[in-house]
Amino acid sequence: MTTMLRPGDSDYDSELAGFQTAVSRRPDVIVAATSAADVVEAVRYAGEHDLPVAVHSTGHGVGIPFEGGVLVTTQRMTGIRIDAGIARVDAGVRWGAVIEAAAEHGLAPLSGSFPGVGVVGYTLGGGFSLLGRKYGLAADQVTAIEVVTADGELRRATPDTEKDLFWALRGGRDNFGIVTALEFRLVPVTRLYGGSLQFGTASLATVIRAWRDWAAEMPREMTSSLAMVPMPDLPVVPEPLRGQHVAQIRIAYLGDAAEGERLVAPLRAAAETLGDTLAEIPFTESGKIANEPPIPHGYRADNATVSELNDTMLDAILEHAGPDAPAPTVVLLDLLGGALSDAPEHPGVGWDREARFTVRALSVVDHVAIPEIRAAHGKLFDALKPWSTGKLLTFVYGETGADEEASKVYSPADLRRLTGIKAAVDPANRFRLTHNVEPARDAG
Ligand SMILES: Cc1cc2nc3c(=O)[nH]c(=O)nc-3n(C[C@H](O)[C@H](O)[C@H](O)COP(=O)(O)OP(=O)(O)OC[C@H]3O[C@@H](n4cnc5c(N)ncnc54)[C@H](O)[C@@H]3O)c2cc1C
Repeated sequence: MTTMLRPGDSDYDSELAGFQTAVSRRPDVIVAATSAADVVEAVRYAGEHDLPVAVHSTGHGVGIPFEGGVLVTTQRMTGIRIDAGIARVDAGVRWGAVIEAAAEHGLAPLSGSFPGVGVVGYTLGGGFSLLGRKYGLAADQVTAIEVVTADGELRRATPDTEKDLFWALRGGRDNFGIVTALEFRLVPVTRLYGGSLQFGTASLATVIRAWRDWAAEMPREMTSSLAMVPMPDLPVVPEPLRGQHVAQIRIAYLGDAAEGERLVAPLRAAAETLGDTLAEIPFTESGKIANEPPIPHGYRADNATVSELNDTMLDAILEHAGPDAPAPTVVLLDLLGGALSDAPEHPGVGWDREARFTVRALSVVDHVAIPEIRAAHGKLFDALKPWSTGKLLTFVYGETGADEEASKVYSPADLRRLTGIKAAVDPANRFRLTHNVEPARDAG
């Protein structure tokens, strides 16, 4: 019998808990799914009671707040199987578990900076991997998706069956159903040269320019991001980082350590480093590269993809999100290009293959109110607008205007196709408690 929780039940709040703590969701019913059959039952229940349905895995990417409806939680669906270089994972699996399982086969998944993130949510958002410039998006490696659609049917979408659904899910996410299992190719990686270089406030402006110039010369074996992180002036932060606005350059290089050392030499020479963790490491330790804190908290984030990072843009980033910014903001600059710009055989939707960098801004909401953060992020992204080519839904976190997102994320042609598919598979818009793609009004 499927476990259903209602407000007032003792486990209701703990079942809703996740990494993001600043988005309120109060469903009428939580279905704690343990299998695809439970998900089918939940979606059929929602249909019978005319309720909207949402899905929650780890809570890293929680989007809009809501009240009412049915929320399906997937964290108990943790099966993993690896066969002939293909991983099959159930809906609640996190990357850390796949990294460990794949390593036993001499393989790695296209996982990202943080092993605690959920495989399904990450992959349906495109999936920007530590190995992305060499192997492309995680979504490009997907071979099959099992999904419960609004009619309560469990379907299998592949490049050959349910082709529209296969396309729409990889970018359109939970607008089209609740995924119960994913199958995707692994890549032959066991070790890499990686880690981070850290620099202090005084070198911030120099280092971001040095990284931008350096990035232009890198082969696709090099995936790299630069994080600007305001470190609090508190005893919990170790010296010498305490109180510094740190520039953290993240490196994941697929090649031998000697060549890695040669490639990063200009970065090491750019300014005095406060920290340097670069070394050859097994892929199972790839979470140490970014070393992101595993503690749940409230945050709000937005992003833009951009065609370049010129000096005007870097000045704007420093002005609106640097040491003197009104709301403390973590900025992440990701180098795109390489295989992330290649056209895969079976592309998904909502990822800009022409963009050269992403600019992401994230602020913790515990000390600064959300309207102030939205205003501060708004100023930053307004300043970048002349070079902005779009935005990535997967890096939009916390409260945003739900309706405004779809038109900014998808091209008009893609949005038309998405709304048409939505009208075919979810005409009642049962899956609307998300950045919603509405069903086309003029369909059939
Ligand atoms: C610390 C941190 C590091 C990150 N690093 C990276 C990175 O390196 N690369 C990258 O690309 N992204 C990264 N992300 C973004 C992350 O991939 C997205 O936030 C993703 O949506 C998280 O999925 P989740 O299942 O863990 O979270 P959840 O909040 O549980 O789910 C988020 C969304 O995923 C979708 N989803 C989840 N499960 C299902 C399902 N079964 N069926 C249908 N839809 C589903 C839904 O749209 C849901 O709203 C990071 C996020 C954080 C907070």
